[in-house]
Amino acid sequence: MDSSFQEALRASDFDAIRRFPKSDLHNHVVGGGNPAWVSMKTNVRIDPLQRKLTSMAEMHAWAEEHLGHLNSPDNRLLLIEAAFVQAASDGVTRLEGGEDIWAPRFYKFPAAALTERLKQIHSRVAPDIEWIPQLGMSRHCLFRDLDRWIRPFLELGFYRTIDLSGNEFAQPIEKFKPIYRLAKEHGLGLKAHAGEWGDADSVRRAVEELELDEVQHGIAAAESPAVMRFLADSRIRLNVCPTSNVMLSRAESLASHPIRKLYDAGIKVTINTDDMLMFGQSVSDEFLNIYRAGCLTADELEQVCRNGLSDD
Ligand SMILES: [Zn+2]
Repeated sequence: MDSSFQEALRASDFDAIRRFPKSDLHNHVVGGGNPAWVSMKTNVRIDPLQRKLTSMAEMHAWAEEHLGHLNSPDNRLLLIEAAFVQAASDGVTRLEGGEDIWAPRFYKFPAAALTERLKQIHSRVAPDIEWIPQLGMSRHCLFRDLDRWIRPFLELGFYRTIDLSGNEFAQPIEKFKPIYRLAKEHGLGLKAHAGEWGDADSVRRAVEELELDEVQHGIAAAESPAVMRFLADSRIRLNVCPTSNVMLSRAESLASHPIRKLYDAGIKVTINTDDMLMFGQSVSDEFLNIYRAGCLTADELEQVCRNGLSDD
């Protein structure tokens, strides 16, 4: 990447930003599609969130109201396709995400068949994108179910990372230790959502208990110099989603977004979309948004962009 990425930011040249290689390492895929594309394919208009929400309950209510009609196996696959379409159109060259491990029960086909469908979507829609297939889990699920559901996926030897999302307060993080050990034994990279709704200490605890390589969000760490130092020293990457944080009232504004403090503390951060269907901002939008808000400079954003293009 040459310095014209910086020039593109300074000129607010969206198309030029779009042409640069970028990563999206925090993308829930089923919620990661382009709203206009999904509206066109389903003949039901989906408008991204127009007002700030303040709780996960509100977020789930929004999703139910606006996306509830898409709750079928075929539509879910369409939504996944929409995420690959979106990533390709935005110049994303490295996309991490996948399905939740409970999903075979919903589709009524097993882990191997589901994985084949996902591979087909990737190779048909966005073969040039490096897809990092991820296994998702929800924080409210019981260990015995997770353990049962994840094994057929692990046996495939295809997935590269694991993530845990959902209500951060549903169960203590320690409950997930055995699942993370199992995933580690299978060579998967370890990620989890932490510090979106929880506090700085919860980020540190998640990293220590689960031996995480990366944290999804992790922005609450900015409240604690000690936790930021710990993350920087441990070389833990935080995959941050600025607009999501603002729209869910986790950050007051883009201008004052904690990514500034995290960056200054020497933590490796990336910029990502979370759920584009809900938040309506692509990776290119997010870079431009953060630049225009004066939160990070063009020079810093180029470094942030590079942070996501490899795992070193
Ligand atoms: Zn997320």
